[in-house]
Amino acid sequence: MVAVTKGAMVAKKAVIIGVSSQDGSYLADLLLAKGYEVTGTIRRTTGYQHPNLAHLYGKIKIQAADLIDQTSLNEVIKSVRPDEVYNIAAQSIPADSWTHPIYTGEVTALGPVRVFEAVRNFAPGARVYQATSREIFGNIKAASANESTPLDANNPYGIAKTYAHMITRCYRESYGMFACGGILFNHESPRRSLHFVTRKITAGVACIKNKVKNPPINEAGEPLIDSDGKLHMGDTSTKRDWGYAKEYVEAMWLILQNKIPKDYVIGTNTSYSVKDALAVAFAHVGLDWKDYTIEDKKFFRPTEIKELKGDYSLAKKELGWEPKTTFSELIKLMVDADLKRFKPGF
Ligand code: NDP
Repeated sequence: MVAVTKGAMVAKKAVIIGVSSQDGSYLADLLLAKGYEVTGTIRRTTGYQHPNLAHLYGKIKIQAADLIDQTSLNEVIKSVRPDEVYNIAAQSIPADSWTHPIYTGEVTALGPVRVFEAVRNFAPGARVYQATSREIFGNIKAASANESTPLDANNPYGIAKTYAHMITRCYRESYGMFACGGILFNHESPRRSLHFVTRKITAGVACIKNKVKNPPINEAGEPLIDSDGKLHMGDTSTKRDWGYAKEYVEAMWLILQNKIPKDYVIGTNTSYSVKDALAVAFAHVGLDWKDYTIEDKKFFRPTEIKELKGDYSLAKKELGWEPKTTFSELIKLMVDADLKRFKPGF
């Protein structure tokens, strides 16, 4: 992707805030393939050996920035003067938002304001993508949600994302900025962190199948597989609209190439339960999930969000975006990746 400046062709410049994330790393891959000059931010404390970053070294520039530190964000925007900014970073774990509600507000709600302020002051013409979330709809009573669905968040993470969503619109309307929110439904991949249920399942399946001796640690700080060889799960009846992250970052890019700045719902308009994910994942390696899993109250959330599908028809009509990978294909490709990662003898 090139822009013409005074007759010369120059690469477009993009900043990805939170490049170590699942989405940030896929987005970096996509923008590099399109010829962008990419700068990604990581926190000072983020290890350079982060698995999502290894393949990007030497291809992108990396700068340190933190969503709670205005100066660090100013420095990045001032030094790059980007054409496009993607704020992907957040305290992104809904379950942790009950134990860290203030931090979640600082990072996930106020962090985007700091990004907008940095852009407004140092690269006012830049287009900004803000990651919002399906969680802004909370427990709204509807089969599927679109861009006009009322907001009804019911956990600290969803409420912080609601603020991020509304402030994006505020900067668009107040300052005329090209500021857009991506209302993304759940999206997964082999780069998903182990804190999230799909990855917990696919890593668990790989550890059980390959009889791994040192499984990774789960969200309670215990071995992912207990001494009886079982995977401890939360509420397995919970349903989500699950898509493939690699495809969702294409939607982020398309949103910023649009003629006018707008928010879009990105989803698959299907939904499956955690039980469905367990069944597909275990069957893929020839096992029955019921023999290897325990529902553990410790992993239940104080409030759960109900089933809701993401109606992506506006994105399909106006951006030409639609999901391609099915739920079952997604789970299987994640199991395959984890079987390679958690090998026998690991
Ligand atoms: P991840 O959980 O993989 O990554 C979160 C990122 O935020 C990491 O890069 C992390 O850096 C960074 N981060 C956390 N705190 C700070 C901070 N204080 N300052 C700077 N960076 C910080 O995210 P995903 O790729 O799954 O999601 C991307 C975005 O989309 C997030 O905003 C998430 O809330 C949102 N979202 C995700 C959905 C999904 O299903 N994946 C659904 C809807 C919305 P570090 O590596 O240092 O921890």
